[in-house]
Amino acid sequence: MTLRSLSGRPYAEEVADVVAWLRDLDGCPSIDDAMRAACRSASHPDDPGTWFYVEADAAEGVARLRCLSCGGVHPVLDSADRWTYPGAWSCRNCRQAIAEVVFGLHEEASAVTWAAMAVRCVDCGAIDGVADFVVPSLFAADFVPGAD
Ligand SMILES: [Zn+2]
Ligand SMILES: [Zn+2]
Repeated sequence: MTLRSLSGRPYAEEVADVVAWLRDLDGCPSIDDAMRAACRSASHPDDPGTWFYVEADAAEGVARLRCLSCGGVHPVLDSADRWTYPGAWSCRNCRQAIAEVVFGLHEEASAVTWAAMAVRCVDCGAIDGVADFVVPSLFAADFVPGAD
């Protein structure tokens, strides 16, 4: 556990810390599983992309990730159908816009029913929760295109 706090805000040195942070959120369903988003585009077959530009609308529960390596866009669930054109995420601490993305998953009877999406700034490590989603009972492996 290497979460550290700067100005009262959480920072993480690695993705596992983001999962710990998600588990500690108050007032949310329990986090039973977690997945790091990874783009498995054929254009970088040996090197799954884990750095993304992120657009997310917390109020509407839509988000999409754009892979830094290939530019491929991965909408989360049905976000493309309900897209609200939210602004691009940037780190509130250092202002750069590239993040690692982790989904905390709440499961009932082995199916994902709710997900929280958190990002970790690849530069300074700041964590942000950016959106959450009611999931129509998917298995974890089906949750994000190309996810681990
Ligand atoms: Zn990619
Ligand atoms: Zn940052």
